[in-house]
Amino acid sequence: MKANPIVGQGTSLHQWQTSSHMAELAPISVEQLVPEGHRAVIIAPHPDDEVLGCGGLLQGLAALGRAIQLISVTDGSASHPGSRRWSVERLSVVRPQESAQALHRLGLPLHRLKWLRAGFTDSQVAAREAQLAAFIERHLKPRDVVFTTWREDGHCDHEAVGHASASAALAVGATLYELPVWTWHWATPEDSQVPWHRARKLPLSCQVVARKRHAIHAFASQLEGDPQIGLPPVLAPYVVERLLQPFEVVFV
Ligand SMILES: [Zn+2]
Repeated sequence: MKANPIVGQGTSLHQWQTSSHMAELAPISVEQLVPEGHRAVIIAPHPDDEVLGCGGLLQGLAALGRAIQLISVTDGSASHPGSRRWSVERLSVVRPQESAQALHRLGLPLHRLKWLRAGFTDSQVAAREAQLAAFIERHLKPRDVVFTTWREDGHCDHEAVGHASASAALAVGATLYELPVWTWHWATPEDSQVPWHRARKLPLSCQVVARKRHAIHAFASQLEGDPQIGLPPVLAPYVVERLLQPFEVVFV
């Protein structure tokens, strides 16, 4: 197993903001990503990845009236290992509720959104990647446009979900786009491990970013660590700020 690259504070927002490389990424629109008549399928390893990775895109899809299917792969209950305050039992209930609240805050019509919970174990997805690929395949149609975490994102579940989604999309003939989430932490703007040639930038308006910020603040469990056991929050303020740039990146 390779070392966890998600340590320390990672690459600063300032480094991303001042990169000419980032400024030059080619733009892409919601209409180009999900043309009329196609459905968007968002495959999130944990309840929050759909907002962290593509909370802006989701607002654009809703505005265009596109059909959206969300697949939550795990319940995210392994986010606070060893915590009594945030026990596995509590997280398994609270985290999906936080996602529902966040999607509501994004303005998504929840009665029209299809939401599937795949029921895989948080932090253990890699061990059942083939089963996950088969599960996703059963729920995909050839005209679907799939968005999921990049298969090299640096978190074991994000990578397994990226791989499983890619193989399911290939089998069905659906389009696949990958989203960086933890990449913003460990990578740098000039990092050659990142497929920048595949990167497209979806510009977000101030209003869309503000709504995304409001939605991210629904993830209370992730904004809090557990001081009793010295556990820092998953979504520390510098992590949140880094995910609120005026664009989202999609690997095409
Ligand atoms: Zn995640």
